[in-house]
Amino acid sequence: MPFPRPLLPVLTFLWLSTGLLADGMLSHIRGNEDDTHLLNMVIIAEGYTQSEEQLFADNVTHIVSAVFDSVPYKHYSAFFNVWKIFVPSNESGATHVLPDGTTEARDTYFGATYYSSSRVINIDKATVYDILAEHIPDYDLICVLVNDKDYGGAAHGDIAVLSMNISNDPSMVYLHETGHAFAGLADEYESAYSMSPREMYNVTAKTARNEISWRVWILDETPVPTPEATDYISVVGLFEGAMYQETGWYRPMLYCQMRSNYRRFCPVCIEAHIKQIYRHVSPVKRIQPDITTLENPPDTTTLSVVTRAPEPNTLTITWYCDGREAGSGSKLQLSGLSPATEEYVVKAVVRDTTAMVRNPAAREVLADSVSWRVKITTGTGAPVRRRIAEQELSATLHNGALLIRGLQRDADAVRIAVYNARGTCVFRGTAVERLRQSALTTIPGMNMSGGLYFVTVYGAAPPVRSVVKMVVAE
Ligand SMILES: [Zn+2]
Repeated sequence: MPFPRPLLPVLTFLWLSTGLLADGMLSHIRGNEDDTHLLNMVIIAEGYTQSEEQLFADNVTHIVSAVFDSVPYKHYSAFFNVWKIFVPSNESGATHVLPDGTTEARDTYFGATYYSSSRVINIDKATVYDILAEHIPDYDLICVLVNDKDYGGAAHGDIAVLSMNISNDPSMVYLHETGHAFAGLADEYESAYSMSPREMYNVTAKTARNEISWRVWILDETPVPTPEATDYISVVGLFEGAMYQETGWYRPMLYCQMRSNYRRFCPVCIEAHIKQIYRHVSPVKRIQPDITTLENPPDTTTLSVVTRAPEPNTLTITWYCDGREAGSGSKLQLSGLSPATEEYVVKAVVRDTTAMVRNPAAREVLADSVSWRVKITTGTGAPVRRRIAEQELSATLHNGALLIRGLQRDADAVRIAVYNARGTCVFRGTAVERLRQSALTTIPGMNMSGGLYFVTVYGAAPPVRSVVKMVVAE
Protein backbone atom coordinates (compact mmCIF):
# COMPACT_ATOMS: atom_id res chain seq x y z
CA MET A 1 0.00 0.00 0.00
CA PRO A 2 1.20 3.55 -0.52
CA PHE A 3 1.73 5.77 2.45
CA PRO A 4 0.00 7.18 4.30
CA ARG A 5 -2.78 4.74 4.62
CA PRO A 6 -5.97 4.54 2.62
CA LEU A 7 -9.23 4.45 4.52
CA LEU A 8 -11.39 2.47 2.13
CA PRO A 9 -11.24 -1.27 1.75
CA VAL A 10 -9.83 -2.51 -1.51
CA LEU A 11 -12.69 -2.93 -3.93
CA THR A 12 -12.82 -4.92 -7.05
CA PHE A 13 -15.24 -4.59 -9.87
CA LEU A 14 -16.12 -6.60 -12.88
CA TRP A 15 -14.80 -5.72 -16.24
CA LEU A 16 -15.78 -7.58 -19.31
CA SER A 17 -12.67 -8.49 -21.19
CA THR A 18 -14.21 -10.61 -23.91
CA GLY A 19 -12.83 -9.72 -27.27
CA LEU A 20 -9.93 -7.72 -25.90
CA LEU A 21 -7.38 -10.50 -25.80
CA ALA A 22 -5.37 -9.54 -28.84
CA ASP A 23 -4.86 -5.96 -27.65
CA GLY A 24 -1.54 -4.45 -26.72
CA MET A 25 2.02 -4.64 -27.91
CA LEU A 26 4.89 -6.30 -26.09
CA SER A 27 8.44 -4.94 -26.38
CA HIS A 28 11.67 -6.08 -24.81
CA ILE A 29 13.57 -3.22 -23.21
CA ARG A 30 16.37 -4.69 -21.10
CA GLY A 31 18.20 -7.98 -20.54
CA ASN A 32 18.85 -10.84 -22.92
CA GLU A 33 15.85 -11.79 -24.99
CA ASP A 34 17.47 -15.08 -26.04
CA ASP A 35 17.72 -16.24 -22.43
CA THR A 36 14.20 -17.43 -21.77
CA HIS A 37 14.92 -18.46 -18.20
CA LEU A 38 15.44 -14.99 -16.80
CA LEU A 39 13.04 -13.29 -14.44
CA ASN A 40 10.42 -11.46 -16.50
CA MET A 41 9.69 -7.97 -15.20
CA VAL A 42 6.67 -6.51 -17.02
CA ILE A 43 5.28 -2.96 -16.98
CA ILE A 44 1.82 -2.49 -18.48
CA ALA A 45 0.33 0.83 -19.63
CA GLU A 46 -2.97 2.04 -18.18
CA GLY A 47 -4.69 5.33 -18.97
CA TYR A 48 -2.36 6.17 -21.88
CA THR A 49 -4.09 6.99 -25.17
CA GLN A 50 -2.74 5.85 -28.50
CA SER A 51 -1.02 9.22 -28.95
CA GLU A 52 0.69 8.84 -25.56
CA GLU A 53 2.70 5.76 -26.47
CA GLN A 54 5.98 7.68 -26.42
CA LEU A 55 5.08 9.18 -23.02
CA PHE A 56 4.57 5.65 -21.69
CA ALA A 57 7.93 4.58 -23.14
CA ASP A 58 9.66 7.56 -21.48
CA ASN A 59 7.96 6.88 -18.13
CA VAL A 60 9.01 3.23 -18.24
CA THR A 61 12.59 4.19 -19.09
CA HIS A 62 12.74 6.50 -16.08
CA ILE A 63 11.39 3.87 -13.68
CA VAL A 64 13.48 0.98 -14.99
CA SER A 65 16.76 2.88 -14.94
CA ALA A 66 16.11 4.08 -11.37
CA VAL A 67 15.11 0.59 -10.23
CA PHE A 68 18.29 -0.96 -11.65
CA ASP A 69 20.29 1.75 -9.96
CA SER A 70 18.96 0.64 -6.56
CA VAL A 71 19.91 -2.20 -4.22
CA PRO A 72 19.49 -5.08 -4.70
CA TYR A 73 18.37 -4.77 -8.35
CA LYS A 74 21.62 -3.21 -9.53
CA HIS A 75 23.56 -6.24 -8.34
CA TYR A 76 21.19 -8.75 -9.96
CA SER A 77 20.59 -7.03 -13.29
CA ALA A 78 21.83 -10.13 -15.17
CA PHE A 79 18.88 -12.10 -13.79
CA PHE A 80 16.20 -9.94 -15.45
CA ASN A 81 14.46 -9.50 -18.74
CA VAL A 82 12.37 -6.32 -18.72
CA TRP A 83 9.35 -5.89 -20.97
CA LYS A 84 6.69 -3.31 -21.51
CA ILE A 85 3.20 -3.82 -22.85
CA PHE A 86 1.54 -0.82 -24.40
CA VAL A 87 -2.24 -1.14 -24.30
CA PRO A 88 -3.94 2.06 -25.44
CA SER A 89 -6.89 3.44 -23.51
CA ASN A 90 -9.71 5.50 -25.01
CA GLU A 91 -9.07 8.28 -22.51
CA SER A 92 -6.07 9.55 -20.59
CA GLY A 93 -5.75 9.27 -16.78
CA ALA A 94 -7.87 7.30 -14.31
CA THR A 95 -11.35 7.43 -12.84
CA HIS A 96 -11.73 9.34 -9.55
CA VAL A 97 -14.64 8.74 -7.20
CA LEU A 98 -14.79 11.94 -5.16
CA PRO A 99 -15.65 12.21 -1.43
CA ASP A 100 -19.09 13.62 -2.28
CA GLY A 101 -19.88 10.49 -4.28
CA THR A 102 -19.57 12.03 -7.72
CA THR A 103 -17.39 10.35 -10.26
CA GLU A 104 -14.89 11.83 -12.68
CA ALA A 105 -14.91 8.92 -15.08
CA ARG A 106 -12.20 8.03 -17.59
CA ASP A 107 -12.60 5.27 -20.13
CA THR A 108 -9.40 3.30 -19.57
CA TYR A 109 -8.38 -0.21 -20.49
CA PHE A 110 -8.01 -1.68 -16.98
CA GLY A 111 -10.54 0.62 -15.29
CA ALA A 112 -8.05 2.23 -12.89
CA THR A 113 -10.00 3.98 -10.16
CA TYR A 114 -9.15 6.09 -7.10
CA TYR A 115 -11.81 6.12 -4.42
CA SER A 116 -12.46 9.23 -2.37
CA SER A 117 -9.46 10.19 -0.24
CA SER A 118 -7.88 6.77 -0.63
CA ARG A 119 -4.55 6.54 -2.36
CA VAL A 120 -5.23 2.97 -3.34
CA ILE A 121 -5.69 2.55 -7.08
CA ASN A 122 -7.98 -0.31 -8.04
CA ILE A 123 -7.81 -2.04 -11.37
CA ASP A 124 -9.52 -4.95 -13.05
CA LYS A 125 -7.09 -7.75 -12.31
CA ALA A 126 -8.76 -10.29 -14.62
CA THR A 127 -8.05 -8.07 -17.63
CA VAL A 128 -4.42 -7.69 -16.55
CA TYR A 129 -4.04 -11.47 -16.39
CA ASP A 130 -5.70 -11.79 -19.82
CA ILE A 131 -3.17 -9.40 -21.33
CA LEU A 132 -0.29 -11.21 -19.63
CA ALA A 133 -1.55 -14.60 -20.82
CA GLU A 134 -1.72 -13.25 -24.35
CA HIS A 135 1.72 -11.66 -24.44
CA ILE A 136 3.98 -13.14 -21.78
CA PRO A 137 2.47 -16.04 -19.84
CA ASP A 138 5.68 -16.69 -17.90
CA TYR A 139 5.64 -13.26 -16.24
CA ASP A 140 7.19 -12.93 -12.80
CA LEU A 141 7.04 -9.33 -11.65
CA ILE A 142 4.08 -7.28 -12.82
CA CYS A 143 3.40 -3.58 -12.59
CA VAL A 144 0.51 -1.59 -14.03
CA LEU A 145 1.59 1.99 -14.60
CA VAL A 146 -1.31 4.44 -14.40
CA ASN A 147 -1.02 7.69 -16.32
CA ASP A 148 -2.49 9.93 -13.60
CA LYS A 149 -0.90 12.86 -11.80
CA ASP A 150 -2.40 11.97 -8.39
CA TYR A 151 -0.29 9.97 -5.97
CA GLY A 152 -1.43 6.41 -5.50
CA GLY A 153 -0.56 2.78 -5.69
CA ALA A 154 -1.42 -0.66 -4.46
CA ALA A 155 -0.34 -4.25 -4.47
CA HIS A 156 -3.23 -6.43 -5.54
CA GLY A 157 -1.78 -9.87 -4.92
CA ASP A 158 1.14 -10.18 -7.32
CA ILE A 159 0.17 -7.09 -9.32
CA ALA A 160 1.76 -3.79 -8.30
CA VAL A 161 -0.11 -0.67 -9.38
CA LEU A 162 1.25 2.86 -9.27
CA SER A 163 0.67 6.21 -10.89
CA MET A 164 2.98 8.59 -12.71
CA ASN A 165 2.12 11.05 -9.95
CA ILE A 166 3.79 14.42 -9.58
CA SER A 167 4.27 14.33 -5.81
CA ASN A 168 6.57 11.32 -5.43
CA ASP A 169 9.14 9.79 -7.73
CA PRO A 170 7.24 6.90 -9.37
CA SER A 171 10.36 4.73 -9.23
CA MET A 172 10.26 4.99 -5.42
CA VAL A 173 6.60 3.97 -5.41
CA TYR A 174 7.51 1.13 -7.80
CA LEU A 175 10.10 -0.22 -5.35
CA HIS A 176 7.64 -0.03 -2.46
CA GLU A 177 4.69 -1.64 -4.24
CA THR A 178 6.75 -4.40 -5.81
CA GLY A 179 8.27 -4.90 -2.35
CA HIS A 180 4.75 -6.15 -1.53
CA ALA A 181 3.77 -7.76 -4.81
CA PHE A 182 7.08 -9.45 -5.65
CA ALA A 183 9.08 -9.80 -2.42
CA GLY A 184 6.11 -10.45 -0.15
CA LEU A 185 7.03 -7.69 2.30
CA ALA A 186 4.78 -5.89 4.76
CA ASP A 187 4.32 -2.16 5.24
CA GLU A 188 6.65 -0.97 7.99
CA TYR A 189 4.72 2.24 8.72
CA GLU A 190 2.34 2.52 11.62
CA SER A 191 -0.57 4.70 10.42
CA ALA A 192 -3.80 2.77 10.79
CA TYR A 193 -5.32 0.71 8.01
CA SER A 194 -8.14 -1.78 7.90
CA MET A 195 -5.75 -4.71 7.48
CA SER A 196 -4.78 -6.69 10.57
CA PRO A 197 -1.07 -7.13 11.29
CA ARG A 198 0.50 -10.57 11.02
CA GLU A 199 3.95 -12.10 11.19
CA MET A 200 5.78 -11.41 7.96
CA TYR A 201 9.37 -11.35 6.72
CA ASN A 202 9.94 -7.79 7.91
CA VAL A 203 7.44 -7.36 10.75
CA THR A 204 6.92 -9.26 13.96
CA ALA A 205 5.20 -9.04 17.33
CA LYS A 206 7.89 -11.19 18.95
CA THR A 207 10.33 -9.48 21.28
CA ALA A 208 12.46 -12.38 22.54
CA ARG A 209 15.76 -12.07 20.69
CA ASN A 210 15.94 -15.74 19.72
CA GLU A 211 12.40 -15.64 18.26
CA ILE A 212 12.92 -12.70 15.92
CA SER A 213 13.07 -14.06 12.37
CA TRP A 214 15.80 -11.55 11.38
CA ARG A 215 17.86 -12.13 14.57
CA VAL A 216 20.93 -13.08 12.52
CA TRP A 217 21.14 -9.40 11.50
CA ILE A 218 21.01 -8.05 15.06
CA LEU A 219 24.33 -7.47 16.79
CA ASP A 220 24.66 -8.72 20.37
CA GLU A 221 25.22 -5.19 21.64
CA THR A 222 22.01 -3.86 20.07
CA PRO A 223 19.19 -3.91 22.62
CA VAL A 224 15.81 -5.40 21.67
CA PRO A 225 13.39 -3.75 21.45
CA THR A 226 15.69 -1.08 20.06
CA PRO A 227 15.37 2.58 21.11
CA GLU A 228 14.75 5.09 18.32
CA ALA A 229 18.04 6.83 19.05
CA THR A 230 20.80 8.10 16.77
CA ASP A 231 23.08 5.32 18.08
CA TYR A 232 20.88 2.82 16.27
CA ILE A 233 20.07 4.79 13.15
CA SER A 234 22.01 2.49 10.85
CA VAL A 235 21.77 -0.89 12.52
CA VAL A 236 19.24 -3.68 12.33
CA GLY A 237 17.30 -4.14 15.54
CA LEU A 238 13.72 -4.38 16.67
CA PHE A 239 11.97 -1.01 16.30
CA GLU A 240 8.43 -0.55 17.57
CA GLY A 241 5.78 0.59 15.09
CA ALA A 242 5.02 -1.43 11.98
CA MET A 243 2.20 -2.76 9.82
CA TYR A 244 -0.38 -0.10 10.80
CA GLN A 245 0.31 -0.46 14.54
CA GLU A 246 2.05 2.10 16.74
CA THR A 247 2.68 -0.42 19.49
CA GLY A 248 3.17 -4.16 19.81
CA TRP A 249 4.50 -4.65 16.27
CA TYR A 250 8.11 -4.24 15.21
CA ARG A 251 10.24 -3.58 12.12
CA PRO A 252 13.94 -4.28 11.49
CA MET A 253 15.27 -0.77 10.98
CA LEU A 254 14.50 2.83 11.75
CA TYR A 255 14.12 3.66 8.05
CA CYS A 256 13.25 1.52 5.08
CA GLN A 257 11.59 1.81 1.68
CA MET A 258 8.72 -0.23 3.12
CA ARG A 259 8.21 2.52 5.71
CA SER A 260 8.64 5.72 3.73
CA ASN A 261 9.47 6.94 0.25
CA TYR A 262 13.02 8.06 -0.52
CA ARG A 263 14.54 5.59 1.93
CA ARG A 264 16.51 2.57 0.86
CA PHE A 265 15.39 -0.93 1.67
CA CYS A 266 16.67 -2.19 5.03
CA PRO A 267 18.98 -5.25 4.96
CA VAL A 268 16.11 -7.60 5.85
CA CYS A 269 13.99 -6.33 2.94
CA ILE A 270 16.99 -6.55 0.57
CA GLU A 271 17.48 -10.15 1.70
CA ALA A 272 13.81 -10.94 0.94
CA HIS A 273 14.22 -9.57 -2.59
CA ILE A 274 17.36 -11.61 -3.34
CA LYS A 275 15.73 -14.77 -2.02
CA GLN A 276 12.75 -14.10 -4.29
CA ILE A 277 15.00 -13.53 -7.32
CA TYR A 278 16.57 -16.97 -6.80
CA ARG A 279 13.12 -18.53 -6.47
CA HIS A 280 12.53 -17.48 -10.08
CA VAL A 281 15.96 -17.81 -11.69
CA SER A 282 18.71 -20.41 -11.42
CA PRO A 283 22.31 -19.18 -11.34
CA VAL A 284 23.10 -22.09 -13.69
CA LYS A 285 22.80 -20.79 -17.23
CA ARG A 286 24.35 -23.59 -19.26
CA ILE A 287 26.23 -26.84 -18.74
CA GLN A 288 28.72 -28.70 -20.88
CA PRO A 289 28.28 -31.51 -21.81
CA ASP A 290 24.56 -30.83 -21.87
CA ILE A 291 23.70 -34.51 -21.61
CA THR A 292 23.90 -35.66 -18.02
CA THR A 293 24.59 -39.35 -18.48
CA LEU A 294 28.11 -40.05 -19.78
CA GLU A 295 29.09 -43.56 -20.80
CA ASN A 296 32.78 -44.33 -21.09
CA PRO A 297 33.75 -40.67 -21.47
CA PRO A 298 37.41 -40.00 -22.26
CA ASP A 299 39.38 -39.01 -19.17
CA THR A 300 40.09 -35.70 -20.84
CA THR A 301 36.38 -34.88 -20.70
CA THR A 302 35.83 -31.54 -18.99
CA LEU A 303 32.56 -30.72 -17.28
CA SER A 304 31.71 -27.05 -17.11
CA VAL A 305 29.08 -24.71 -15.73
CA VAL A 306 28.28 -21.28 -17.15
CA THR A 307 26.50 -19.07 -14.63
CA ARG A 308 24.33 -16.01 -14.45
CA ALA A 309 26.23 -13.94 -11.96
CA PRO A 310 25.48 -11.00 -9.71
CA GLU A 311 27.72 -7.95 -9.87
CA PRO A 312 30.09 -8.19 -8.07
CA ASN A 313 30.23 -11.92 -8.65
CA THR A 314 29.68 -13.68 -5.33
CA LEU A 315 29.01 -17.11 -6.82
CA THR A 316 31.06 -20.14 -5.87
CA ILE A 317 31.05 -23.46 -7.72
CA THR A 318 31.96 -26.59 -5.76
CA TRP A 319 32.29 -30.01 -7.35
CA TYR A 320 31.49 -33.32 -5.70
CA CYS A 321 32.22 -36.89 -6.78
CA ASP A 322 29.80 -39.29 -5.11
CA GLY A 323 29.29 -36.75 -2.35
CA ARG A 324 32.98 -36.08 -1.74
CA GLU A 325 34.29 -32.63 -2.51
CA ALA A 326 36.35 -32.83 -5.69
CA GLY A 327 37.20 -29.29 -6.73
CA SER A 328 36.02 -25.77 -7.33
CA GLY A 329 35.66 -23.33 -10.20
CA SER A 330 33.70 -23.41 -13.42
CA LYS A 331 35.40 -26.52 -14.88
CA LEU A 332 36.31 -30.01 -13.77
CA GLN A 333 38.23 -32.65 -15.70
CA LEU A 334 37.18 -36.24 -15.12
CA SER A 335 40.81 -37.34 -14.96
CA GLY A 336 41.17 -35.44 -11.67
CA LEU A 337 38.56 -37.61 -9.98
CA SER A 338 39.08 -40.72 -7.93
CA PRO A 339 35.76 -42.52 -7.91
CA ALA A 340 35.58 -45.68 -5.85
CA THR A 341 33.22 -47.36 -8.30
CA GLU A 342 32.73 -47.61 -12.04
CA GLU A 343 29.48 -45.69 -11.91
CA TYR A 344 29.53 -42.42 -10.09
CA VAL A 345 27.85 -39.05 -9.88
CA VAL A 346 29.62 -35.74 -10.39
CA LYS A 347 27.73 -32.79 -9.02
CA ALA A 348 28.40 -29.06 -9.31
CA VAL A 349 26.81 -26.84 -6.68
CA VAL A 350 26.52 -23.15 -7.56
CA ARG A 351 25.97 -20.94 -4.55
CA ASP A 352 25.64 -17.21 -4.07
CA THR A 353 27.66 -16.25 -0.99
CA THR A 354 26.55 -12.62 -0.97
CA ALA A 355 26.81 -10.87 2.40
CA MET A 356 23.40 -9.34 1.67
CA VAL A 357 21.73 -12.63 2.64
CA ARG A 358 22.35 -13.98 6.14
CA ASN A 359 19.21 -15.87 7.09
CA PRO A 360 20.18 -19.59 6.87
CA ALA A 361 16.87 -20.62 5.26
CA ALA A 362 17.22 -17.84 2.69
CA ARG A 363 20.80 -18.87 1.94
CA GLU A 364 19.55 -22.34 1.03
CA VAL A 365 17.45 -20.75 -1.73
CA LEU A 366 20.55 -19.04 -3.17
CA ALA A 367 21.94 -22.25 -4.65
CA ASP A 368 21.33 -24.67 -7.47
CA SER A 369 23.10 -27.79 -8.63
CA VAL A 370 23.56 -29.95 -11.68
CA SER A 371 24.68 -33.60 -11.79
CA TRP A 372 26.22 -35.90 -14.33
CA ARG A 373 26.08 -39.69 -14.01
CA VAL A 374 29.26 -41.28 -15.31
CA LYS A 375 29.31 -44.96 -16.28
CA ILE A 376 32.49 -46.83 -17.12
CA THR A 377 31.78 -50.18 -18.70
CA THR A 378 34.54 -52.71 -19.25
CA GLY A 379 34.79 -55.09 -22.13
CA THR A 380 32.22 -53.54 -24.39
CA GLY A 381 32.48 -50.30 -26.25
CA ALA A 382 35.97 -49.20 -25.34
CA PRO A 383 38.81 -51.19 -26.94
CA VAL A 384 39.91 -53.63 -24.27
CA ARG A 385 43.49 -54.00 -25.36
CA ARG A 386 44.14 -50.32 -24.75
CA ARG A 387 42.71 -50.28 -21.26
CA ILE A 388 44.41 -50.96 -18.02
CA ALA A 389 43.70 -54.58 -17.23
CA GLU A 390 41.82 -53.74 -14.14
CA GLN A 391 40.61 -57.26 -13.48
CA GLU A 392 44.18 -58.17 -12.64
CA LEU A 393 45.17 -54.87 -11.16
CA SER A 394 46.54 -54.99 -7.64
CA ALA A 395 48.25 -52.50 -5.41
CA THR A 396 50.50 -53.36 -2.55
CA LEU A 397 52.64 -51.32 -0.23
CA HIS A 398 56.03 -52.67 0.57
CA ASN A 399 58.90 -50.87 2.27
CA GLY A 400 57.56 -47.47 1.30
CA ALA A 401 57.10 -48.38 -2.33
CA LEU A 402 53.79 -48.83 -4.05
CA LEU A 403 53.72 -51.69 -6.49
CA ILE A 404 50.97 -51.70 -9.10
CA ARG A 405 50.58 -54.94 -10.98
CA GLY A 406 48.48 -55.62 -14.02
CA LEU A 407 49.39 -52.61 -16.12
CA GLN A 408 49.52 -52.95 -19.84
CA ARG A 409 52.74 -52.11 -21.59
CA ASP A 410 51.21 -49.44 -23.75
CA ALA A 411 49.87 -47.46 -20.85
CA ASP A 412 52.43 -44.71 -21.25
CA ALA A 413 52.72 -42.37 -18.32
CA VAL A 414 51.24 -43.82 -15.17
CA ARG A 415 49.93 -41.47 -12.54
CA ILE A 416 48.86 -42.78 -9.18
CA ALA A 417 46.67 -41.35 -6.42
CA VAL A 418 45.95 -42.99 -3.10
CA TYR A 419 42.86 -42.15 -1.07
CA ASN A 420 42.02 -43.29 2.41
CA ALA A 421 38.59 -44.71 3.26
CA ARG A 422 37.32 -41.22 4.08
CA GLY A 423 38.17 -40.02 0.59
CA THR A 424 41.19 -37.92 1.56
CA CYS A 425 44.05 -38.03 -0.88
CA VAL A 426 47.16 -39.22 0.96
CA PHE A 427 49.46 -39.53 -2.02
CA ARG A 428 49.60 -38.35 -5.59
CA GLY A 429 52.51 -39.11 -7.89
CA THR A 430 53.86 -40.61 -11.09
CA ALA A 431 55.33 -44.08 -11.34
CA VAL A 432 59.10 -43.80 -11.18
CA GLU A 433 59.75 -47.20 -12.63
CA ARG A 434 57.63 -49.05 -15.09
CA LEU A 435 58.02 -52.75 -15.68
CA ARG A 436 56.43 -54.86 -18.33
CA GLN A 437 53.40 -55.65 -16.27
CA SER A 438 53.75 -53.42 -13.26
CA ALA A 439 54.68 -49.96 -12.08
CA LEU A 440 56.66 -49.11 -9.01
CA THR A 441 56.72 -45.83 -7.18
CA THR A 442 57.92 -44.67 -3.81
CA ILE A 443 55.78 -42.71 -1.38
CA PRO A 444 57.81 -39.93 0.23
CA GLY A 445 56.99 -39.04 3.83
CA MET A 446 54.59 -41.93 3.93
CA ASN A 447 52.37 -41.89 7.00
CA MET A 448 49.73 -44.40 6.02
CA SER A 449 48.29 -46.29 8.92
CA GLY A 450 46.73 -49.70 8.57
CA GLY A 451 43.38 -49.94 6.84
CA LEU A 452 41.57 -49.71 3.53
CA TYR A 453 42.77 -47.45 0.69
CA PHE A 454 41.67 -46.84 -2.83
CA VAL A 455 44.40 -46.56 -5.40
CA THR A 456 43.52 -44.79 -8.62
CA VAL A 457 45.77 -45.48 -11.58
CA TYR A 458 45.69 -43.21 -14.59
CA GLY A 459 47.13 -44.22 -17.92
CA ALA A 460 47.53 -41.24 -20.20
CA ALA A 461 47.49 -42.80 -23.63
CA PRO A 462 44.74 -43.59 -24.10
CA PRO A 463 43.26 -41.77 -21.12
CA VAL A 464 41.91 -44.46 -18.85
CA ARG A 465 41.52 -44.78 -15.12
CA SER A 466 41.18 -47.74 -12.80
CA VAL A 467 40.49 -47.99 -9.12
CA VAL A 468 41.70 -50.80 -6.93
CA LYS A 469 41.35 -51.44 -3.22
CA MET A 470 44.48 -51.81 -1.15
CA VAL A 471 44.58 -53.09 2.40
CA VAL A 472 47.60 -51.97 4.38
CA ALA A 473 48.50 -54.21 7.27
CA GLU A 474 48.39 -52.78 10.79
ZN1 LIG B 1 12.57 -3.11 5.61
